[in-house]
Amino acid sequence: MRLVLLGPPAAGKGTQAERLGARYGIPRLSTGDILRAAIAAQTPVGLAAKDIMARGALVPDEVVVAIIADLIDAPDAAQGFILDGFPRTVAQAEALARLLEERGLRLDAVVELKVDEGILIRRIESRIAQMRARGETLRADDDPEVLKSRLAAYRAQTAPLVAYYRGKRQLRSVDGMQPSEQVAAAVARILSKTGKPTRAKRRAAKARTKARKRRGKSARQAGPRRPQRRKPGTRKAARRKGRRG
Ligand code: AMP
Repeated sequence: MRLVLLGPPAAGKGTQAERLGARYGIPRLSTGDILRAAIAAQTPVGLAAKDIMARGALVPDEVVVAIIADLIDAPDAAQGFILDGFPRTVAQAEALARLLEERGLRLDAVVELKVDEGILIRRIESRIAQMRARGETLRADDDPEVLKSRLAAYRAQTAPLVAYYRGKRQLRSVDGMQPSEQVAAAVARILSKTGKPTRAKRRAAKARTKARKRRGKSARQAGPRRPQRRKPGTRKAARRKGRRG
């Protein structure tokens, strides 16, 4: 299972990615987590990303694409992964498509968590206020003003991915304002359908089974499907014979 979770900051992508990861036994790959770890470890990438992240802007594409290339090549991602926070620009989505193609892999789905931004901002503001009141440590970008910048970056640079993936017929949308369990159930329903045969294929398979039953044969006796050939004795042949005789 290879999945992208799309949605604005604080839409619940992280929570859903963790749940789905546990369910399918595949890792959640978060560029945000890797960048925060790089900042904590004061690596060159971390030092370059620190100010950008603190003001709620996006880190350059080439930095996050290099991070993702390493993550999808890691052994724990061999059976699949859930991308949380990547891609965030069309250029990143194109780079991801190239990375997957080079490895003979493909995405199973892109799930968009649709949220009401106004409600989201009010929710985050009250969560931040409560955390501050309890004296808990906040992320550098857990600040109402920075959140507004992150939402602006989402609208300008990430939201175009909705049309991008819709155009590729990979996009599925879920109401992200529902309680977390219901969002998870809706995503699971979507994933249970990925890779299933299309309606046309299902209908053709049903018609074949029906035809076999009419001929009084079991599926096993009928053997593998053979290309259809017009046999002598069909209605057309009989008509022709009748005309001659
Ligand atoms: P997140 O934890 O996904 O909300 O990311 C936190 C911050 O890390 C973002 O606001 C960006 O500054 C940076 N970041 C994470 N992922 C990306 C990405 N794919 N492209 C650019 N910047 C990113």
